[in-house]
Amino acid sequence: MKKLLIAGNWKSNKTVQEAIAWLLEWNAKCQMLNAKWENATVVLCVPFTLLYPLKQEIDRLQLPIELGAQDVSPFPDGAYTGEVSARQIKELSDWVIIGHSERRKYFGETDEILAQKVDQAKSAGLHIIYCVPDKETTVPPGVDAVAYEPMWAIGTGKSDTPENAGEVIRGIKVKTNIPVVIYGGSVTQENVASFVSQEAIDGVLPGGASLDPEKFANLIKNACNPR
Ligand code: PEP
Repeated sequence: MKKLLIAGNWKSNKTVQEAIAWLLEWNAKCQMLNAKWENATVVLCVPFTLLYPLKQEIDRLQLPIELGAQDVSPFPDGAYTGEVSARQIKELSDWVIIGHSERRKYFGETDEILAQKVDQAKSAGLHIIYCVPDKETTVPPGVDAVAYEPMWAIGTGKSDTPENAGEVIRGIKVKTNIPVVIYGGSVTQENVASFVSQEAIDGVLPGGASLDPEKFANLIKNACNPR
């Protein structure tokens, strides 16, 4: 059985108080659902401000969820005001998303900058989820997983078809030789099983559906324990 990667992306949402409340509610819901995911890695990619408090709570309660950042500085520690370095992230989490469409679109991140970010994240020992909008976009060497996220499907409620996503992901795997490629773009608790049941698709990257603890718990359950 393939091991799934389920990575929630909170984008710029939640205060510390809201994040802790989410975690407790999510945990209670998972227990209620009796959701089991030995066959999945579940990661929550959150704003930098939430990494420390969430890590404290996850460690304290020994919860089966890992943390990730949503971006990383292209530079090492030093005189780069406002940036958060890979080494600082690694102190609090093991994962990072690089190259999300919103970073490319609103912050002008180019393939060159993204390759620098990958280098930094790699040398700090972070696991990298590298996002691409199609199979033509360059993927720098050294990433752990690729997320295929067609731009028109992000936050729109219009997902790609599982068959097309599977086809694109097969193409990405052939081109990059990266064995773990996941799908993102309006993934929900209702459609997640149709994506992960495609042979080529190794998991999902839900944005909106990760903000609600109950929806995220159901999504994990439906991905890992399909009926
Ligand atoms: C995302 O955050 O990368 C994403 C795909 O968002 P949504 O699931 O809301 O479309």
